[in-house]
Amino acid sequence: MGFSCAQASAPLTAAMAEFELIRRFFARSASACPPPQALLGIGDDCAILAAPKGPNERFAITTDLLVAGVHFFADVDPQALGHKALAVNLSDLAAMGARPVAYVLALAMPHANEDWLAAFARGIHALADRHQIELVGGDTTSGPLTVGITALGEVDPASALRRDRARVGDDLWVSGTLGGAALAVAERRAGRGHSVPLAAQRCLDWPNPRVDLGLALAQLAAHGRVHAAIDVSDGLASELGHLLQRSEPGLGARLWSSRLPADPVLQALAPIDQLELMLHGGDDYELLFTAPASARGEIESLAGRFDGVAVTRFGMLEAGSGLVLEAPDGTQRALPARGFEHFGGAEC
Ligand code: ADP
Ligand code: MG
Repeated sequence: MGFSCAQASAPLTAAMAEFELIRRFFARSASACPPPQALLGIGDDCAILAAPKGPNERFAITTDLLVAGVHFFADVDPQALGHKALAVNLSDLAAMGARPVAYVLALAMPHANEDWLAAFARGIHALADRHQIELVGGDTTSGPLTVGITALGEVDPASALRRDRARVGDDLWVSGTLGGAALAVAERRAGRGHSVPLAAQRCLDWPNPRVDLGLALAQLAAHGRVHAAIDVSDGLASELGHLLQRSEPGLGARLWSSRLPADPVLQALAPIDQLELMLHGGDDYELLFTAPASARGEIESLAGRFDGVAVTRFGMLEAGSGLVLEAPDGTQRALPARGFEHFGGAEC
């Protein structure tokens, strides 16, 4: 709760108090949601959860904050926003190889518009149900539109997909396709919001967190068949930079430009523009992972098994530093590990 602060704007609405809002849109009847995992869910000062189920499992915890005008356009479809706010957190759990368990939702909005809330709740609950995870608490206040979610998962630390385990000689893999969401953002920023291709808008609004793929990769990681992973939220080049930074020193990456899996919606663009969006765009929420060359067969066999998602080998790690992009004719150029900038970048 928290409407007593002098700077806070008026209560959400006189007609719908905070508790009523939570009851109507976020607390769910037992019949409407997956079997409860929490010993105590929404309604008390804290939720209470059972310890992880597996003997070797531990909690993995992550949080993501989405701010209107920074992470999404303020006129976003509220159902898509509900979906995406949870999806980006599930993507972090996927990138760790963790199984989602529960989440809490912190929501600030200028007014409590019932239609908006109903659509937002539909989006978030649908994705939660798909992954059998439960909303166990949160906070709701008036303020600039902001959605913060903290998600909890379970993972065996011995098989967790960490960023710091990449090695010289590893293959570089990425799931799905790249650049579609970035095209939608680029078109909006160029003042062509009216003509954003539908497929690009879908990539931006409805990312599919690769939870099942993450779990399968963790199984391989347990046997050293996958080494490191990260999810692609701010652009492939930038995420690859993070991975190198966290792993052993003296590690460089070579990317083959012709192997990068362009989203089909990029087809009409010049190759140079496709590359820019795939490498530096962001909002893909695919998994970028590294694995020894000897594991190629096992990894290729994962292709198509989870939501039909592809896995593509697009480069390798070698002794060196930084990122090198290699064209089919063998020409090379250094690649800045640049992606979406939250501070100093253009705003939505
Ligand atoms: P407190 O003031 O003790 O933090 P609140 O009055 O804010 O509690 O919230 C009442 C209950 O509703 C708590 O269990 C809280 O976790 C839950 N809650 C608040 N906002 C949300 C939300 N947006 N989604 C889910 N649960 C929420
Ligand atoms: Mg509270």
